Amino acid sequence: MSADALTKLYVELTTACNLDCVMCVRRTWRDEGYGPMDWALYQRLIEQLRAFPTPPVIHFGGYGEPMTYPRFLEAIELAKSIGARVEMTTNGTLLTPDMAQALIDLDVDKIMVSIDGVSPEVYGDIRVHSDFKKVIGNFVELFRRKVSQRGRGLHKPIVGIAFVAMKRNIADLPRLPQLAHFIGASEIKVSNVVPYYPQLADEILYDRALYSLAYRSSPAIPDMSLPKMNLDDATYPALKEVFDSTVSLSWKQSSLNRYNDYCEFTQQGYAVIRRDGAVAPCLELMRDHTVYLLGRPQHVTHYTLGDVSQQSLRDIWESPEYSDFRRRVREFPYSPCLTCGGCERFEENFQDCNENNVFPVCGRCPWAQGFVQCP
Ligand code: SF4
Ligand code: SF4
Ligand code: SF4
Repeated sequence: MSADALTKLYVELTTACNLDCVMCVRRTWRDEGYGPMDWALYQRLIEQLRAFPTPPVIHFGGYGEPMTYPRFLEAIELAKSIGARVEMTTNGTLLTPDMAQALIDLDVDKIMVSIDGVSPEVYGDIRVHSDFKKVIGNFVELFRRKVSQRGRGLHKPIVGIAFVAMKRNIADLPRLPQLAHFIGASEIKVSNVVPYYPQLADEILYDRALYSLAYRSSPAIPDMSLPKMNLDDATYPALKEVFDSTVSLSWKQSSLNRYNDYCEFTQQGYAVIRRDGAVAPCLELMRDHTVYLLGRPQHVTHYTLGDVSQQSLRDIWESPEYSDFRRRVREFPYSPCLTCGGCERFEENFQDCNENNVFPVCGRCPWAQGFVQCP
């Protein structure tokens, strides 16, 4: 596969959702309609994927619940018909026993379920209109069916848990492994919350981490390489002090700053299809929105590179503009706005203090500095 291959496509089947989670960007939308992708547009998209040497992974995700899509199972079937690996992120509320069976039968590869609390109270406070016990029951049933039909072991659909960490739910983190065992999940992916409205800024768990030298790299900062050791009462106070001191940290060979200035979307060859067919390079640039960090609003203006209802995805992906954009973001020449916030340019993504940079500038992106990660 070429170094610049399209490897994964996030497809936003719908912007509709049956929940109203506290951290969802949809809460801040004004003019955006809520609804499904046109079926003919989806068919056209899948047909276009045949032009790629290898079909990308299709991940049903974006901002909406994919299982509310009226032709959801047909959409999976069509994606599978071109040989694509199929994944999704879901809130899990609509995973009925019949749906679970259909996903097994369709050989869906992976399901990430969003669970942000390990008690009905914490979960219910975040996932508004959901029912913790029902969601857990849905995944236990999927697990039971996989075991009874395919035996013990890691069988498709592989299940993972996506957890958005905030002050209100971080105490539940240690109970996630037990929950993962209970529902047969083999992966837990924790992200930080993106504060899309001012009150959410009080929920973030990385205000100090934004500046922490432990995560930085500079010739002026010594690097401390730690071995594997206990994390217990004997080591914790010393390690915490080291973490807050003036060294950058590595754990064995793995530096905590290894993924600074690293955009997974451009480095790994991902793209996003909005439900109206627009092609965005990442989830962050799909739509206009505001993020409240460092006590200030940042108005992020969307950036799209074409529309699959007008052009083929391969032409869009290989266009000079999109290729140049990916190359630029991989080089990451941007000013460190996320940890600076020192001038008015911080408040938009049009320009930074590297005068050569053109819209959109990515120096303020929390994804590229490892604070936010996608399922
Ligand atoms: S389930 Fe996802 S799309 Fe729906 S409200 Fe929650 S975060 Fe938003
Ligand atoms: S443009 Fe430069 S000065 Fe302004 S916030 Fe970004 S890094 Fe700081
Ligand atoms: S750095 Fe952030 S805003 Fe820029 S392309 Fe990557 S994810 Fe998108």
